[in-house]
Amino acid sequence: MLPADLAVGGFAPLSTCDWPGELVATVFCQGCPFACRYCHNTDLIPPGPGAGPDFGTILALLDKRRGLLDGVVFSGGEPTLQRALPEAAAAVRALGFQVGLHTAGPYPGRLVRVLPLVDWVGFDVKAPFSDYDRITGVAGSGERAKASLLALVESGVAVDVRTTVHASLLKDDDLARLDGELASVGLGPTRRQPFRAEGCRDAELLAG
Ligand code: SF4
Repeated sequence: MLPADLAVGGFAPLSTCDWPGELVATVFCQGCPFACRYCHNTDLIPPGPGAGPDFGTILALLDKRRGLLDGVVFSGGEPTLQRALPEAAAAVRALGFQVGLHTAGPYPGRLVRVLPLVDWVGFDVKAPFSDYDRITGVAGSGERAKASLLALVESGVAVDVRTTVHASLLKDDDLARLDGELASVGLGPTRRQPFRAEGCRDAELLAG
């Protein structure tokens, strides 16, 4: 795989919120194996070439931003869907940038392979792990996410764990169970993110 094989759905040349405390550019990777009901990036779910600039063009632009940005975040979609992610992350590091990664952890093996190239991870925890399927729509997704999170904790890479909350999907006792599961692996409570209606295509959630 080459860095240029990364399928890009979009690119934000400047972000102050995708990696808290850091000034970054964000690469939105195309494709995600989950179908979360509250997803606000549904255009990024189908795998494919993506509507964004090609990654070679992004690298050329980043080359001119050396010293002006702290890092580059790979977001999505789901970046670990793409086999070119390690090469893309290595290319970014070679330019002198830190690397951030947003993931929901659907591919534990691929996450483990890319972690040595990553400085920080924003990990989306959807629900208590036994309840994942009703959020993601994918059988077995909780087991995969749990394996990824355990590997991440084991790696020692800095992590921000966050959960999107819609009252009809996660009740207070669900969140308490989730926090208990995270505490058992040494992580603090998830940072709650409110549901965002913008981009969501689930009529029931939008009505609720
Ligand atoms: S994991 Fe993220 S990108 Fe994928 S469907 Fe869920 S919210 Fe959307």
